[in-house]
Amino acid sequence: MQYSITEKLPVIDTMMRPLKDLRLSVTSKCNHRCPYCMPEHSCSNLPESNIFLSDDEILYLSSIFVSLGVEKIRITGGEPLLRPNLPNLINKLSKIHGLHDLALTTNGSLLEKFAYELKASGLNRLTVSLDSIDNNIYNRMTGNRGNLIKVICGIKKAQEAGFNNIKINSVIIKGVNDSGIIDLVNFARENNLILRFIEYMDAGNSNNWTSKDVLPFENIFQTINKKYPLKILEPNYKSEVASRYGFYDGKGEIGFISSISKPFCHNCSRIRLTSDGKIYNCLFTENNFDLKTALQNNLSREDLAKQIINIWENRRDCYSQIRSEFLSSNKAISKPEMFQIGG
Ligand code: SAM
Ligand code: SF4
Ligand code: SF4
Repeated sequence: MQYSITEKLPVIDTMMRPLKDLRLSVTSKCNHRCPYCMPEHSCSNLPESNIFLSDDEILYLSSIFVSLGVEKIRITGGEPLLRPNLPNLINKLSKIHGLHDLALTTNGSLLEKFAYELKASGLNRLTVSLDSIDNNIYNRMTGNRGNLIKVICGIKKAQEAGFNNIKINSVIIKGVNDSGIIDLVNFARENNLILRFIEYMDAGNSNNWTSKDVLPFENIFQTINKKYPLKILEPNYKSEVASRYGFYDGKGEIGFISSISKPFCHNCSRIRLTSDGKIYNCLFTENNFDLKTALQNNLSREDLAKQIINIWENRRDCYSQIRSEFLSSNKAISKPEMFQIGG
C-alpha cells in the first residue's frame, strides 16, 4: 500500500467547515465501564475483532484523509492502549507526510506500561480521562473497573517520559462527581496538567442520559472562579472546541467543552473513523459510510478519496445546535455509542 499524498485542499462542507481533524478509533473494546459511555449492559454484543481495520488499512485510509486536508489525528477508542502493538501503528502514522499533530486519548489504565514507548513512537500529545481524584467516586465513574492510583502513576510516568502539557478530560455528572471539581483543579494545578471539563452528553443510546444529569458550563465555571479567579484565553486554533481560561495567579490553564450549553458545531471540522471502518460526520448521527467494505471491494485510492470528499461536501450535521428541538420531537435515532466512535 502507498502512504504518500497528493495535495488537494481544502474540502469544505455545506456550512463552510473544512475537513481538518480525524478521530481514529482503534478499538471499541474497553477495560472500564464508565456508566456515561459503556454501561455494563451495553456491551454484550460487541463486534468480533476480525472485522476491525488492520494497521495497514488504518495507515492507508489515514494517508488519504491527510491528503484531503486533515492535519490532526487523535487516536481513541474504546481504550486505544488495548490494541496490540499500538506504539508501532503510531510510529507509522507519525510519518505520514502532511500530518501536523498526532494525539491520543486514553483512560490511563495502561499508561504506566506504555508511557516511554508512546513517547518514542512519535506521539505528540496525550489526554488522560480522569473524572475524580476521590477513590470511591472514581470507582463509580469507571463502573468499578478503574484503578485511580494506577492512572495517577501513569500520568507521572508519561511526564517523566517527556510528555508536556498533558490534558485531563473530566466529564461532570450532576450529583455524582461534581463535589470533586475543586479537588480536580488542585490536582491539575499541582501537577502541571491542563484540565478540560466536559459536559455530559447524550451520546449513544445506552447511558440513559437526561438533561437533569448535566452540570452546565456556567455552574462549573462559577464554582472554580470563586476559588481561583479565571481569565479568558484566546483559542489555540480556529476549530478548537474547548473555551480556554487561565488562572489569575498564572498557575495553569483550564478549559470547558460545553456541547450542551454552548454548542460549537459551526467550528466542527472533525470526521470520525471507527475501528470497524465506518466514517461518521458527527457524534450524533446514524448515517455512516462503510470504508472497510469499500476497501475490500478494491476501490482505487482516488475513488476512496472521492467518496470521502462527497460525504464531507454534503455534510449538514449540527446536532448540538438543534438538540433541544430534536429531543422535544421524540424522534428515535440509532446513534453510535461513544466507545465505538471515540468521543
Ligand atoms: N477510553 C478512552 C478514554 O476514556 O479516554 C478514549 C475513548 S473515550 C470514548 C473519549 C472521551 O469521551 C473520554 O474523555 C470520555 O470521558 C468522553 N466521553 C465518553 N462518553 C461521554 C459522554 N456521554 N459525554 C461526554 N463525554 C463522554
Ligand atoms: Fe472506556 Fe473511555 Fe468509554 Fe470510559 S470513556 S468506558 S474508559 S471508552
Ligand atoms: Fe460536530 Fe456533531 Fe458535535 Fe456538532 S454535534 S460539534 S457537528 S460532532
